[in-house]
Amino acid sequence: HADAALYYAKDKGRNNYQFYSVSLSAKNPELLTLEKSLRYALEREEFTVFYQPRVNIGTGEITGMEALLRWQHPEMGLVAPSVFIPLAEESGLIIAIGEWVLRTACMQNKTWQDSGLPPITMAVNLSLKQFRQPKLVEIITRVLEQTGLDAHFLELEIMETTAIEDLGFTRTVLEELKQMGVNISIDDFGTGHSSLSRLQLLPLHNLKIDQSFMRDLQPDSKVAHIIQAIVTLGHSLGLKLTAEGVETAEQLEFLKSINCEEVQGYFFYRPLPEQKATEILESKRPII
Ligand code: C2E
Ligand code: MG
Ligand code: MG
Ligand code: MG
Repeated sequence: HADAALYYAKDKGRNNYQFYSVSLSAKNPELLTLEKSLRYALEREEFTVFYQPRVNIGTGEITGMEALLRWQHPEMGLVAPSVFIPLAEESGLIIAIGEWVLRTACMQNKTWQDSGLPPITMAVNLSLKQFRQPKLVEIITRVLEQTGLDAHFLELEIMETTAIEDLGFTRTVLEELKQMGVNISIDDFGTGHSSLSRLQLLPLHNLKIDQSFMRDLQPDSKVAHIIQAIVTLGHSLGLKLTAEGVETAEQLEFLKSINCEEVQGYFFYRPLPEQKATEILESKRPII
């Protein structure tokens, strides 16, 4: 497959995706250096996972957490996923790193459950290459077995662009995952120039509305109507809707008014280190 050297990059201004056929690091010596240190990051234990709560808009309850990878580089400090995930993707390192994230996140969720906290969903992001690796289902099966987490408490987030690249392939893999009990959500929905009429062929559970919509949201604007249309259409296909990047009370009110069920964003919680995430779950533990 020719996509080995290809990756998607988001053109923030125009909010679309471009194909690059040239290696990232070949073009930029700084990125090459970074890619080299990325090779040792796993064994040097420089990765950590942060957890960002997802909140039920009606009850305010935490329904799940999203695992977000962080890289603490010895000299450069914290490197953003938007910088190192494309490098990991390009070099193939994403396969090993991704399995580590999956295992860490599943283990964490099992630990929370075992400590008596109400069960929540753990969402893990999968990149294009991760999703297309031949052993994906095998790896997920193994990680669930090893960690003892019930598949129903794992959700995988794939981007719209990943899902639609080969709908036949996507459908086969997602059907297998669904059989196992794993939930699937479409991440960054609305940025990939696809339509729900194509995605409706897939066994999906959840749609995450891209945070760029929240940024541009004004009352009664076109963006407001688009968000509303996504929610309505998503519901008619039996999907749950999660809005990403919610930062203000106004955005929250609007999302409530159009019956979006779940939100994620700085208005409630930033991505949190394990300890902090645990404290927040503990503080919300129902008193029986
Ligand atoms: P994403 O999956 O769409 O995650 C949401 C991103 O938005 C996260 O950035 C999160 O910190 C940020 N965010 C959350 N709430 C708000 C808000 O209210 N305002 C703003 N401005 N931002 C908010 P982060 O952690 O830097 O991750 C960026 C992307 O990197 C993720 O986007 C995901 O595509 C990718 N990523 C992160 N961790 C992993 C991973 O373990 N594996 C893979 N394959 N990709 C990952
Ligand atoms: Mg995500
Ligand atoms: Mg997203
Ligand atoms: Mg994103």
